[in-house]
Amino acid sequence: MRLVLLGPPGAGKGTQAERLVAHYNIVPLSTGDMLRGAVAAGSAVGCKVKDIISRGDLVPDDLVVELIAVQIDAPEAGNGFILDGFPRTVGQAEALDRLLKERGLKLDAVIELKVDEAALLARIERRIAEHKAKGHEVRSDDDPAVLKQRIENYRRQTAPVSDYYRKTGALVLIDGMKPMDTVEAEIEQALQKRAMA
Ligand code: ADP
Repeated sequence: MRLVLLGPPGAGKGTQAERLVAHYNIVPLSTGDMLRGAVAAGSAVGCKVKDIISRGDLVPDDLVVELIAVQIDAPEAGNGFILDGFPRTVGQAEALDRLLKERGLKLDAVIELKVDEAALLARIERRIAEHKAKGHEVRSDDDPAVLKQRIENYRRQTAPVSDYYRKTGALVLIDGMKPMDTVEAEIEQALQKRAMA
């Protein structure tokens, strides 16, 4: 199973990605996690992207495309993968198409979690409070001003990715405002329906 999960910050992509990973025995590929890992490790890539991420802006396409290419080729991804946070621009979506085509692979579906924008800020603020209460580290970009920037960038740069996949017929729209278990069930239903079609 090869999936893409689309949706703005706070849409619940992380939660649903975890569930899909367990259900289909596939690997999660989150460019956000990879980039944060690079920053934490202090690698050359990490140094390059640290400030960009803290501002809530997008890192250059070629950099994330390269990260993803390496992971798609890893033996662990043989059974499939779920891309979370990638592609985030139409350029990245085109690059992914090329990557997959070269390898004779195809996406099974692109799942977009639709959420009410007004709910996003509240959701992330709650997540920050929960992390703090548990003594967990808070992401440098989980800050109200940066979050607004991330949502704005989503609207400008990532929303067109949804149109791109609507045209290819891969897009599945799911209401991300429902409870997590309902969202999970609706994703499963939609994937089963596609598999039978
Ligand atoms: P969220 O979905 O909550 O905004 P992510 O963990 O997916 O968070 O991404 C965090 C940050 O990492 C983004 O704001 C951006 O700076 C960078 N990033 C992640 N994925 C990409 C990508 N595909 N292209 C460009 N930048 C990315």
